[in-house]
Amino acid sequence: MLTVFNTLTRQKEPFKPLTPGVVKMYVCGPTVYNYIHIGNARSAIAFDTIRRYFEYLGYQVDYVSNFTDVDDKLIKRAAEDHTTVPKVADRFIKAFMADTAAVNIEPATAHPRASENIPEIIDFVKTLIDKGYAYEAAGDVYYRTRKFKNYGQLSDQRIDDLEVGASQHITDEETKRKEDPIDFALWKAAKPGEISWPSPWGAGRPGWHIECSVMSTKYLGDTFDIHGGGQDLEFPHHENEIAQSEAKTGKKFANYWLHNGFVTVGDDNEKMSKSLGNFVTVHDIIKQIDPQVLRFFMATTQYRRPIQYTQGNLDEAANNLEKLQNAYRNLAFRLADAQPGSDAQVATELQRLRDNFVTAMNDDFNVQNGIAAVYELAKLANVYAANDHVQQVTVTQLKATLAELASVFGVRLTSDDADTLADADIQALIDDREAARKAKDFAKADQIRDDLKAQGIILEDTPQGVRFRKE
Ligand SMILES: [Zn+2]
Repeated sequence: MLTVFNTLTRQKEPFKPLTPGVVKMYVCGPTVYNYIHIGNARSAIAFDTIRRYFEYLGYQVDYVSNFTDVDDKLIKRAAEDHTTVPKVADRFIKAFMADTAAVNIEPATAHPRASENIPEIIDFVKTLIDKGYAYEAAGDVYYRTRKFKNYGQLSDQRIDDLEVGASQHITDEETKRKEDPIDFALWKAAKPGEISWPSPWGAGRPGWHIECSVMSTKYLGDTFDIHGGGQDLEFPHHENEIAQSEAKTGKKFANYWLHNGFVTVGDDNEKMSKSLGNFVTVHDIIKQIDPQVLRFFMATTQYRRPIQYTQGNLDEAANNLEKLQNAYRNLAFRLADAQPGSDAQVATELQRLRDNFVTAMNDDFNVQNGIAAVYELAKLANVYAANDHVQQVTVTQLKATLAELASVFGVRLTSDDADTLADADIQALIDDREAARKAKDFAKADQIRDDLKAQGIILEDTPQGVRFRKE
C-alpha cells in the first residue's frame, strides 16, 4: 500500500485515488520570465519521479502543470528587453521545455498558460463575487479571506495571526482598497501601458493565485487527487488556491498536498539568491555537467528533504550513476555468449530486490531506500555477469529490470556497444588489434589501443574477450 505525507493533515496516509487506476495531479509550474533555476528543477524532477513511480505501479497519470505567463516579473522583463510579455513568455517556455527535456522530465499531459484561460478566469472570479466571497474595488477584485472558514488549514495558521503580519504593509496602495488587510487580489486593474484584457471590472489581468484554481479544476475536475509544489508555495499561494476553489465549488479541492523541500547551494548551505551570486540556472549548468547526473542527483533525494547542491554531492551522484551504467554494460556484453535457459536462484533474488524497491517507494516515495535496492541489483548483475557461463533469460531479466528501475529515477541506461556505425568502426579496430596480437605485433596492438584511448574509448580485456566503453 502506497502512503504519502499529506501536508493538509500533517501525516502519512494511504493513497486512494478518486478513480481506480488513475492519478490526477497538478503541480505549480514556473513564472516564465527567465531560465529555470535549480530550485525549479528540483520541484519538476521530484514530481516527475513521483509520476514515474505511479506509472511503474501501473497507474495512468493525468499530470497538469501551468505556466504563469503574465505577472509583474514578465512585465518588467519585457520592458527591459524592449519586447512584449507574450514574446518573453514564448522564449522562456521554449527554454523550459528544452531544459526539462535535457534532465528527462516527461512533458505534462497539459501545460496550460494563464493568458490562454482569461475567459475561464473571469467566469471564476464572477462566481466568487456572486457568492459573496469577493468584491471589486477600483478595478481590482479581492478575495474576502475571513469569509472562508477553513483558511489557514494547509499551513496550520490561525487567521488572526495572519492579520498581524498583513497589517504591517497597511501603507501599501493596494491594502487601502481592501476591506481587510488579509484579503488578496483575484484580478488587478491594469496600469497605463500594461498588458491587459477587458473584464466586467475594466481592463486588467489575473492575480497569480487564481490561475491555478482555474486551470487545475478545468483539466482535472472540481476535486482531484494530488496537488504538488515547493514548500515555499504552501503559504499563501496554496492556501489561497484552496480558499478560491472550495468557495466556488463547495467541494474539497485536492485530497493530498505534497510539498518538495528546498535547495541550498555550496558547503555552507546558503539559500540560493541572485544577490549572493549563487543563482544557478539549468540552462547554464547543463553546459558544464552531464544533465543525467543532475537528474540522478536530484531524483535520489526524497522529495521532502532539502537538497544540498555541492560539487561533492554531484560527484558522488556521478559515481553511483556510473556504477549502474557499468553493470548494465556488463550484462549487455554477456548477452552475446549467454546460453539458453535461466537461473532460478538469481530469479528469486531479483524478485526480492524488486519487492524491496516497491516497499521503499511505497513509503512516501523513499527514493534513498529505493535506489539502495537498485545498487544491490547492480551488484547482483556484476557478480552474475562475471560467471564463466551465463544464461540468456537471466541476463535479459537482470538487464531489463535494471533499466526499468533506473528509469523511475529518470535515467536511461544504455549499452554503448550498440550497433551504431561509430561503434562498428571501433569494433573493427579491436578486431585489427586482436589480429596484431595473435601475430605477435605488439607495437601495432598497443598503438591501436592508445589511438582509441586518445578518442575516449577504453578497452578492457575480459575472460569473454575484449570489450570497450566510452569515457
Ligand atoms: Zn499554483
